[in-house]
Amino acid sequence: MKISLIETINELKNLVEKCQRGGFPIVFVPTMGALHAGHVSLMQRARAEAGPDGLVIASIFVNPTQFGAGEDFSRYPRDLQADVAKLDAAGVDAAFVPTVEAIYPSGPATNLSAGAIGTRWEGESRPGHFDGVATVVARLFELVEPDVAIFGEKDFQQFAVIQQMVADQGLKVKLIKAPTMREVDGLAMSSRNAYLSEAERSIAPKLYETLLAVRDDGRIEDAKQALLAAGFDKIDYLALVDGTTLEPLQTPASNARIIVAAWLGNTRLIDNLGMADE
Ligand code: AMP
Repeated sequence: MKISLIETINELKNLVEKCQRGGFPIVFVPTMGALHAGHVSLMQRARAEAGPDGLVIASIFVNPTQFGAGEDFSRYPRDLQADVAKLDAAGVDAAFVPTVEAIYPSGPATNLSAGAIGTRWEGESRPGHFDGVATVVARLFELVEPDVAIFGEKDFQQFAVIQQMVADQGLKVKLIKAPTMREVDGLAMSSRNAYLSEAERSIAPKLYETLLAVRDDGRIEDAKQALLAAGFDKIDYLALVDGTTLEPLQTPASNARIIVAAWLGNTRLIDNLGMADE
């Protein structure tokens, strides 16, 4: 394996400084591990952005501050060996795998707030989630000092929150949003898909089918009924929103997006689709 495994802030700082002295770009992909082909697509994009001489760093950190009480922090899938092998194969130069203490030296004391954009949709179902996301991404950016950072469109609202955080903090990093990778039946790849039973897994693609149906006929209430009829247990939201502000829309505008979060048993799945997407 060519990849370096970096566990301490000192090692990371040395690598970052070396790269900056050489004038090479740093391209960063934060993850929580349990890597799948969706993550790998971000790594490949990062490699292309960095060029042969730039440094591609991926982080693996299951961030406690973005999980609410009773959520899946302790059972979130973890498989460091397999993850590092996947990163290596995707051409990543360094895997940054910090401890919780390295990221939060005095506990999660000084937190950022994601503000209003972090309180609706995902934020309404998961209070405090986006404050934790904004906090950890800001902290990781401060340590990695990336020129470019890549995120998945799968977590649509998360990207909006990070964009806002970068603007508010006056950071220079360029943010790239990469397309959602899907299984052949349309289910968006997610580390949480591993929680699904065989029966749930066979129902799960209905989530994407529902997005396609809303894109084509705009009938959100019918789509909710169809999801429940297919076997979903609860819908947190299914909505048409402005693709920038995430404000709800009554009629589709050019950058409108359909966003959904729904439960299959104990597993919460999210997905989204642009009204203009193919
Ligand atoms: P996570 O490990 O779930 O925090 O995700 C790490 C990064 O991978 C985030 O930027 C996600 O949006 C992105 N990601 C997750 N699933 C997918 C997918 N199916 N396709 C593309 N990117 C994804």
